[in-house]
Amino acid sequence: MASAGQTPEGLLASVFGFQAFRPGQEEIVRAVIAGRDTLAIMPTGGGKSLCFQLPALCLPGLTVVISPLIALMRDQVRALREAGVEAGALTSGNTEEETEEVFAALDAGRLKLLYMAPERLASGAALALLRRSKVALIAVDEAHCVSQWGHDFRPDYLRIGELKRALGVPLAAFTATADEETRAEIVARLFEGRQPAEFLRGFDRPNIHLAFAPKDQPRRQILDFAAQRKGQSGIVYCASRAKTEALAAALREAGHAACHYHGGMEAEDRRLVEARFQREDGLIVVATVAFGMGIDKPDIRWVAHADLPKSIEAYYQEIGRAGRDGAPAETFALFGPDDIRLRRVQIDEGLAPPERKAADHGRLNALLGLAEAIGCRRQQLLAYFGETLAEPCGNCDLCDRPPETFDATEAVRKALSAALRTEESYGAGHLIEILLGQDTDKIRARGHDRLPTFGVGCDMTRAQWQALFRQMMGHDLLRPDAARHGALVMTRRAHPILRGEERITLRSDLVKRAKSGPVVKA
Ligand code: ADP
Ligand code: ZN
Repeated sequence: MASAGQTPEGLLASVFGFQAFRPGQEEIVRAVIAGRDTLAIMPTGGGKSLCFQLPALCLPGLTVVISPLIALMRDQVRALREAGVEAGALTSGNTEEETEEVFAALDAGRLKLLYMAPERLASGAALALLRRSKVALIAVDEAHCVSQWGHDFRPDYLRIGELKRALGVPLAAFTATADEETRAEIVARLFEGRQPAEFLRGFDRPNIHLAFAPKDQPRRQILDFAAQRKGQSGIVYCASRAKTEALAAALREAGHAACHYHGGMEAEDRRLVEARFQREDGLIVVATVAFGMGIDKPDIRWVAHADLPKSIEAYYQEIGRAGRDGAPAETFALFGPDDIRLRRVQIDEGLAPPERKAADHGRLNALLGLAEAIGCRRQQLLAYFGETLAEPCGNCDLCDRPPETFDATEAVRKALSAALRTEESYGAGHLIEILLGQDTDKIRARGHDRLPTFGVGCDMTRAQWQALFRQMMGHDLLRPDAARHGALVMTRRAHPILRGEERITLRSDLVKRAKSGPVVKA
C-alpha cells in the first residue's frame, strides 16, 4: 500500500509502474505537491491523471477529484484500487452499497482520492461531508467545462470556485483544450481571478538534436561521439553499474575528464560527483538512470545512451537534461538486438501483472519504432505524447540524412503468414526457422516443414529476418504476447498488409547491414 512520505519518483515506479515522468508531468506534480494553485494544459493522452493522483498520495489528507466523465472516474478508481490506493467515487452510477462504502472509508479517514461528479456539488450535504473530511487538494479534470462559451459547459462547474473558498485548499485544474479566452475564464471562475501556476508549454525542445544508431562497436561509437565534443559537459547513460565504471575509465584514457555515477555508490561519493558536474565545465558523467533527478545544470551540451533507454518517456526525460539554456545540444542513442532481448526478458520475468507487462512490451515497441523510424524523429517523438509537429524538424539525424527505404511488402507478408499459419503461437526465432526452411526437430515435430511458408524466405539471412521482425514490431504489426512467452500476435494494422490491400515501406539500411549470419540455401 502506498503511503505518504515516499518520494514522487518512488511512487511513480511502485504504484503506477512507470519508469519516468512524461513531458510536463514532473513540473506539474512538484507544483501541486508544493501546495500551489495550478492550471495545466496537456494534450489528450499526455498523462494528466497522474498529475493529481501522484500528489494525492504525497499529500496528507484527501484529494477531491471532480470530473464530468463517469465511466472515466470508475476506470480510474478501479485502477487505483488495483494498485493498492484507497480511492472511491460518488456518482449517479453508484449502487447504494458502493456509496455506503465510500462514506465509511471517508469517515475512517482512510480515503486518499474521492472522485465526484459535479452534480454532487449542488447539494449542501456534499459540502458538509467534505468539510468534515480533511481535504488537501481539489483536482478538476476537464476544467474547460467551466467555460460558458465552450460546447462542454457544465453549470455545476461554476460551484467549484465556491467549494475551493469554503475549504480553503489549493486547486489543480486540468484540460486538453484551452485557448486564451477559455484559460482566462478558468482562472476567473475556478481561482477567483488569482493567477495560478500555469503549465502550457509544448513538449518540443527544438534545440536538442536527436540521433540513434545501431550498436556496432558501442565503446568505439561513444568514444568517437565524445571526441568530437571534447571539453563540453555531457552525460552517458548505461544500463549497468559495471559499464559506467569501465566506460568512464576508457573516456579518461582518451583524455577526457570523466567519472562514473550509479546507485551502488556511497551517498557521499555520489554527492561529490553531482557537485563536481554542477561546478566544472567539460566533465563527462557516465551514469545509470540514477543520475539526473536533482541535476539542474543549464549548459549540458550532450547526452548519449550507450544502451537502449527504458522507454520513450525515459528517453525524453534523459535527453531533456541537455541544452536547458536553449543553446544547441546533441543526443545520440545506441540500440542493439541484445538490448531488446534483455528488455523483453526483464519485462516477462518481472513481477508485474499481465496487463502491465503487455503495456511495457507496447512501450518498448514504441521506442523501437522511434529508434528505427523512417521519417523525422521529432515528429514521431511528439506524436507519441499527443502533440503534432506539422513539418519535419530539420534537427534530427533522419532529417539530416533521410534513410534508404525499400518496399518490404512481400517479405512482411511472408513473415505475417508464417505467424498466422502457426496460430500466432511462436516467437521470432521459430518463425525465422520456418521462413529459412530449417530442418530441425522442433520444426518436424510440429509439422511446420509442411507449411506453404516453409523455406520461402531463403533470399534473406537469419540476421536480416531478425532486423525485419524488429522493424515489424516497431511498426506495431506484430506484438509479443507476454502471457504466452512472447509469442508474436498480429495487430489490426497487419491485416490489410497480409490481405494485399496495403503496402509497407521499411528501412533497407537496417536490413542490409544485418548481413552476418548464415545464408541458407533452399
Ligand atoms: P489524459 O491526459 O488523456 O488524461 P491519461 O492520464 O489517461 O491521459 O494517460 C494516458 C496514458 O498515458 C495512460 O495509459 C497512462 O497509463 C499513460 N501514462 C501516463 N503517465 C505515464 C508515464 N509517466 N509513463 C508512462 N505512461 C504514462
Ligand atoms: Zn527531424
